[in-house]
Amino acid sequence: MSVIVDHTLLPALKQYGAFDIGACFNCGNCTAGCPLSKDDTTFPRKIIRYAQVGMRDSLLSSKELWTCYACGECSETCPRQAEPSEFMAAARRYAIGSYDRTGLARTMYTRPVLGTMIAVFLAAFFAIFMAAGHAIPSGGSLDLFAFVPEDLIHTIGIVVMVLVALAGVAGLVTMARQVGRSEGVGWRTVFGSRAAVGRSIRALWESIGVESLGQRRYREDCDADKATVPLYRRRWLLHALTMWGFLGLLAATILDYGLALVGIKATGTPVPIWYPVRLLGTIAGLMLVYGASMLIVERYRKASRSVAHSAPADWTLLALLWITGVTGFTLELALYLPQAPAWGYWVFLFHVAVAMELVLLAPFMKLAHVIYRPVALFFYALGRAPDQPDLQGGTR
Ligand code: SF4
Ligand code: SF4
Repeated sequence: MSVIVDHTLLPALKQYGAFDIGACFNCGNCTAGCPLSKDDTTFPRKIIRYAQVGMRDSLLSSKELWTCYACGECSETCPRQAEPSEFMAAARRYAIGSYDRTGLARTMYTRPVLGTMIAVFLAAFFAIFMAAGHAIPSGGSLDLFAFVPEDLIHTIGIVVMVLVALAGVAGLVTMARQVGRSEGVGWRTVFGSRAAVGRSIRALWESIGVESLGQRRYREDCDADKATVPLYRRRWLLHALTMWGFLGLLAATILDYGLALVGIKATGTPVPIWYPVRLLGTIAGLMLVYGASMLIVERYRKASRSVAHSAPADWTLLALLWITGVTGFTLELALYLPQAPAWGYWVFLFHVAVAMELVLLAPFMKLAHVIYRPVALFFYALGRAPDQPDLQGGTR
């Protein structure tokens, strides 16, 4: 098989925040010290080597990029201070920028000021989109609809959302195809027979249920701070609470709109705290605010090697998650005050704009790992299935 060498790979990775991996002399200490590096998935040395020799395709098709949990232990053991953990994080950013064909992810990562301006513009746009679908409360002074027709804003908003969603799906398909090809997994491996479908379902459960939602390897293998850090500050728990909170809020929002669609309860109607959707939203919101707040504090304090270096993308994601959680609670407060205050409307717009931005821009930001990691873990689990046919037609 011929290998295309890309001499621009190393400088490009540096733009995404990779440290001085030229200092790496491939001793392998990092791989030996990585709690997740196993016979069938050896990293980070292998990925660093790909970067050093310009094997761009091999790097982009490595599931190992996504099976790393950024614990930072490899950086502790590196004798050359090449920061392999930071390199893995930068390589993931580079991969997100490469899977995305629109160039938006690349801009957000490599030109943080412009990326922030785009993010702010989009949040404002989403706020206007939402305002176009809701009556302005008396005393409100939003005059935009005087010169931009409400219907036009709504139509443009829908088109933007569809385009962004399609770009996200395209990135996911690109990533899955590249990793699948390098793993020798095609449609027939996944769907070709009843046995294949059974294996795929088990791999899907392992990747989404056990590893992504249950955080098994992060919790069990990648938890070096277990002896020194109390449970409420452990990395895996803060990561899990933030993820569960975000997904719980997303589920509560979808359920709330679903109940409105079938005519059971209009969105925004006050309900008791024990009402299932509100209870889910409240518990998820608490998890998100706690998890995101602690992650911000830990990162600000550089509390461990895993958060010793922060890229703008790390702060942007945490800030958006934190704002979503806090404005959600402020909105709830406004809704349940004896006389709903007018400021609740503006909090609503702000909250929805930031939340929409988080969901719609997920494929172009660090949040994309929520999508790419389960896909990589699916290939990982599929490769480890005991009855998985190997490329020679036997089993492994
Ligand atoms: S420990 Fe450091 S020098 Fe050794 S292979 Fe890993 S990154 Fe390179
Ligand atoms: S950051 Fe942790 S999981 Fe990732 S390569 Fe280094 S030691 Fe392994």
